[in-house]
Amino acid sequence: MLNMQNNIEIHPLTNNPTAAWREISQTQKVFKLNVKPPCKPVDNDKIRFVCMSDTHSLTHNIKFDVPDGDVFIHAGDFTKCGQQEEVQEFNRWLGELPHKYKIVIAGNHELSFDPTFIHIFKKSCDHSSRHTGSILENEIPTLGMQKDDLNEAVRVVNVKQYLTNCIYLEDSLVEIYGIKIYGTPWQPEFCKWAFNVPRGEQCLSKWNTIPDNVDVLITHTPPVGHGDLVCSGIRAGCVELLTTVQQRVKPKYHVFGHIHEGYGITSDGKIIYINASTCDINYIPNNLPVVFDMPLPAGI
Ligand code: 5GP
Ligand code: MN
Ligand code: MN
Ligand code: MN
Repeated sequence: MLNMQNNIEIHPLTNNPTAAWREISQTQKVFKLNVKPPCKPVDNDKIRFVCMSDTHSLTHNIKFDVPDGDVFIHAGDFTKCGQQEEVQEFNRWLGELPHKYKIVIAGNHELSFDPTFIHIFKKSCDHSSRHTGSILENEIPTLGMQKDDLNEAVRVVNVKQYLTNCIYLEDSLVEIYGIKIYGTPWQPEFCKWAFNVPRGEQCLSKWNTIPDNVDVLITHTPPVGHGDLVCSGIRAGCVELLTTVQQRVKPKYHVFGHIHEGYGITSDGKIIYINASTCDINYIPNNLPVVFDMPLPAGI
């Protein structure tokens, strides 16, 4: 099927990213790069980015120092379920970070950030008590959250007002030092959490809103093939996100999280992919922030 707008095709195996990647990986390589803490201050003609993700309201348990830099990025899942206190606590923590710019996107755990999720959740609460538990009876660990917590989370009004210490991106772009940074929270549907969309056409329609000339792309989900290998051996990344990133957007860096066990840096030889998940598979915030330095565009 051809999407006329951007000529990105839906892969026939879009619903089976493991099989899709088996096919795609016949014609492209993946290079693994080591995560190295910065050993010297950033050069004058470069901008230092410090990336984290998936801190899940556990920043108080972090045992490492967050390296200083010009731009801090958090790629979503900063809470367990998007409760107001969690958002306020995260905002306080952000406020203590030294970075000049702090950029945050939401993930599937930020229930209160997704108006469509709130709508569906409230509707299911109103119409059938049988459905209210569905989010808890799924495979994603609920991190000790009870139905009451989730109910409380979805009742938070205008939650974005509590993120005062960062630039919050949601299908939007910010330009810093002439570097274009775009953030989007959507991920392929899994257990019906926030910002879930069915794979294929609907995921692609979200990626189609990413502008062409982005330098640093931030998504919550990985693309297929990079940082998306789940413990069970299957791949959970989005096939059309990889196609969009490689064929159209071509950012220099693609930062994401979501699949905690996929933490690390890879490259296809052109784009650098960073899974910055701070929490590991057991929700312990063990993984170091990923740092990269980007040359300032000419004339800045
Ligand atoms: P989170 O609940 O923090 O979004 O994701 C935590 C873990 O759930 C991931 O590290 C991964 O093991 C699993 N997970 C999340 N999304 C998916 C998915 O789409 N497919 C599969 N198989 N596992 C997922
Ligand atoms: Mn997570
Ligand atoms: Mn580009
Ligand atoms: Mn997630």
